[in-house]
Amino acid sequence: MIARYHVQMTTEALQAHFDPAGLQRIIRANLAQDRVINQFTPAIHFDSNAFAEGEALIRAERALAVRQMQAGRRPEALAAFGRLLHTRQDFYAHSNWVALWVAQQGGLANCQPEAVPICLDPRREPALRSGRGSVLWFLACRMPLLGRWALANAPADTHEAMNLDHPGRGPLFPLALAAATRHTTQEFGLLLAEIGPAGGPALAQAFLGRGPGL
Ligand SMILES: [Zn+2]
Repeated sequence: MIARYHVQMTTEALQAHFDPAGLQRIIRANLAQDRVINQFTPAIHFDSNAFAEGEALIRAERALAVRQMQAGRRPEALAAFGRLLHTRQDFYAHSNWVALWVAQQGGLANCQPEAVPICLDPRREPALRSGRGSVLWFLACRMPLLGRWALANAPADTHEAMNLDHPGRGPLFPLALAAATRHTTQEFGLLLAEIGPAGGPALAQAFLGRGPGL
């Protein structure tokens, strides 16, 4: 998704739990995942059907966040959390998860954004696909004059044809936004559930910016 929606989802899901500076740290790390060098790593954005790789990356960042908290490095823990949230949120914008669910429901008329399920295991959905990253089509869709044609003619399996990155992508966007926001909340709970056993309630409180000695 484009930056403002990563900010919106992360803020909506987390602002009641974190101190403002902590939340900003999470958001900055989330947005930094879209820097140019990271566009060549499909797993970071769940592009190119990199579902197993994306899930592995999220697990690794979650484990890193726990280790950083245990080592007393809260800023680095918050950054790891922000990075995994970016990948988690991109899943709903870059895959056909929402489109598959809408088809199962018999069409958009039967679908409410709050009812879109979150994906807990991409391996269980054999029809799941995500857009192929293509530098050629990425550039073509952003060129003056050519851009409109390229957007209409990008191959169906490309990121340019499949993405739900912003409202201009059509009526499925609000559904992707709602599911990604809900999964952001779920990721928060998962991480807290790992920090707790690793360091007790005090470490979980410290992660939220409520502990002493920060
Ligand atoms: Zn991304």
